[in-house]
Amino acid sequence: MKTKDPGFEQQIKDKIRSYNRQRMTLSSVTILCIGIVFFSSAIWTAILPVRAAVFISAILILVCAAFILPLYSSILLLLTATCLQGILLGLQMISQELFLLLLLINMGTIFIGGQTTHTIIQTLTSDLEEIKQLETEATTDNLTQLLNRNGLEQAASTALAFCKRDQKPIGVILADIDYFKIYNDTLGHLEGDNVLKQVTKSIKHCFRRETDIISRIGGDEFLILLPDVDESYLLEMAQTLSLLINDLKIQSAATNDPCDFLSITMGIVSKIPQAEDSLTRFYHTADQALYHAKKAGRNCISFQGSIIQGGPPSNENALSISNDLAYAAGQNEKE
Ligand code: GH3
Ligand code: MG
Repeated sequence: MKTKDPGFEQQIKDKIRSYNRQRMTLSSVTILCIGIVFFSSAIWTAILPVRAAVFISAILILVCAAFILPLYSSILLLLTATCLQGILLGLQMISQELFLLLLLINMGTIFIGGQTTHTIIQTLTSDLEEIKQLETEATTDNLTQLLNRNGLEQAASTALAFCKRDQKPIGVILADIDYFKIYNDTLGHLEGDNVLKQVTKSIKHCFRRETDIISRIGGDEFLILLPDVDESYLLEMAQTLSLLINDLKIQSAATNDPCDFLSITMGIVSKIPQAEDSLTRFYHTADQALYHAKKAGRNCISFQGSIIQGGPPSNENALSISNDLAYAAGQNEKE
């Protein structure tokens, strides 16, 4: 059985197994009934060995029609049936003509059964691929290929459950591009899309642990959910991201923007989640912090009521970026 994805292969095997299991009882009863009919001498005039030989082929046809069989099982069945009928031929209990006729029937049955199995597996595979594709489309943002709101909700529920169970802190960064609308309006939507892609790249570069969840939840709004991170790491990574965005050196489009280059503003939250905590709660708290930071002048971070400035990278900041990214990579290896 050759399929593209090993996960699909297992799913197809499971489906075939459950399909076969459902047919097991009915097939056994049918075989029993056929046996009774074949061996009831009151009905048949043919001698017993002839009936037995035909019965073997009848069972083979029934099994191939009722079940989806892998190739090796089909060949094993064909060999068993041919051997049994061959024994009857060897003992001269059936004629050569009957043996050859039954052999042809057996081989035809196995061939048709094999073709049917192949078609069923192909159909199952393409159905599974279609479902997977639809699932991905439903959870992914088309422009940036990050998780969308729906994908975030799914990923966050698992992360939240893990942090609640193990009482680990969870960090949420809500980042919004500053004056993006003006940039969009002056340089056009396509250029705006390009900026969103570059910002995405920086975010992905910054948050590289396997458990980090990055999503685009609105036009220029990104939510990053970091399970099992302490406050200082969260703050350092938010500052690093701010510097990385400045470092893209995309000329700011807003005339009233004190920054020369494109910047982001962030609201961040860190907390050990309790039973009543949900993604929505984290989002609201982070959104309030973001609002606070926007009001404080943008290109900054609001954390626990304090404003931490972003700003253009200095030599000292450049060193801090490389240290933070090295720390993030180290954390990733630890996972
Ligand atoms: P602020 O600093 O207060 O955040 O100001 P802003 O101009 O960034 O305001 P806001 O965040 O409300 O603007 C979001 C803009 O994002 C509005 C819309 O024109 C733009 N936008 C939303 N979705 C897309 C998209 O998919 N592509 C592009 N290019 N622009 C988008
Ligand atoms: Mg904005």
